[in-house]
Amino acid sequence: MAEQNYKRSRQRERLLELLRSTKEHPTASWLYDRLKIEFPALSLGTVYRNLGVLRDQGLLRVLAAGSTFDRFDADMRTHYHFMCERCGAVEDLALDPDLGIEQRAAQCSGRIVTGHRVEVFGFCEACASKESRPIGPSQ
Ligand SMILES: [Zn+2]
Ligand SMILES: [Zn+2]
Repeated sequence: MAEQNYKRSRQRERLLELLRSTKEHPTASWLYDRLKIEFPALSLGTVYRNLGVLRDQGLLRVLAAGSTFDRFDADMRTHYHFMCERCGAVEDLALDPDLGIEQRAAQCSGRIVTGHRVEVFGFCEACASKESRPIGPSQ
């Protein structure tokens, strides 16, 4: 039993390390594919469960990218995202967060404001170059 618990927390630790080591804002299955090499008995359900635990612990956030799959981010600082409308890629934006908006939102709503998020949409570099290329048979 102790062995089981150890294995479980070890998997969660590695999951967080993996998420912190990437700028990809990966999906659960991206994380699963990589962790499975290290933990062959791992299931996708366990990855989802562990992601939920880490979220509840405030160690990661879930990005509702408006696409089919949730993406995960272990960078808990306030920062903005660029999302590709075509392939769903998520990139961090090198843009200083406008913390004044939280103050103004608190003032105009009379509510306690705990944060805000900004998502900018468009085409990533790879999709933009596909976009500008004439459509036709590839060589
Ligand atoms: Zn793209
Ligand atoms: Zn991010």
